[in-house]
Amino acid sequence: MNQSNKKNLEFIKNSGIDYFLQDSPRNWFQKLTNSPSKTRINENGDKLSMILKLVEKIRLHNSPLKKTAKNLVVYDGTLNSKVIFIGEAPGRDEDIEGLPFVGRAGQLLNKMLEAINLRREDVYITNVVNWRPPDNRTPTDEEILEFLPFLQEQIDIVNPDFIFLLGGVAAKAILSTPLNLGKLRGNWHQYQSLQLNKTIYTIASYHPAFLLRSPKYKKASWEDLQMLQKKLHEKK
Ligand code: URA
Repeated sequence: MNQSNKKNLEFIKNSGIDYFLQDSPRNWFQKLTNSPSKTRINENGDKLSMILKLVEKIRLHNSPLKKTAKNLVVYDGTLNSKVIFIGEAPGRDEDIEGLPFVGRAGQLLNKMLEAINLRREDVYITNVVNWRPPDNRTPTDEEILEFLPFLQEQIDIVNPDFIFLLGGVAAKAILSTPLNLGKLRGNWHQYQSLQLNKTIYTIASYHPAFLLRSPKYKKASWEDLQMLQKKLHEKK
């Protein structure tokens, strides 16, 4: 058993699950990573220049959160991902490093990805809000709305087939609903990109920081991750 399979099992066992959908996990992105076609390289070049412009736009945007944060945090992973993972806002570690999900919650997110045979480098990871709110408080509705156009622009640039929402703030921002995660999770929802003229299938599930505090919800989180894995498989 290799290291990645061991980590999968660890997360799965902690989730209270003792069965597999398939005998051996597959890496749906291996082919893309190993043999990028010319079009993909060009596509990525365009995407890269678009995202770099967007990062500068967010940096220049006059948010009050800028005053207390150290670093702007926009994204990690690849622009060529079929799935975007969206969290809430940077915490202390993310603020120091300028990257999303690098603290304890990020380590659990890495394990969750590995459990469905994805690596952090294979997916696009971002947050609703791009500057750390003081004392890690939850972003206000005004802040969510203030940063929403930047998030929508990232989705349009990456052009994913799926969105995985980590926690209630991301669900509120993207699905525009007051319903809680208990009601939203376990089902596919639709996010409509007007720019792409495309419906993007979306799952809302628990935030890794919440799972660290309340591990009994890991079983539900694992079920949601498996829904994504199945769709990625079908789309292949
Ligand atoms: N929590 C989040 O929502 N995002 C991060 O980047 C880190 C922790």
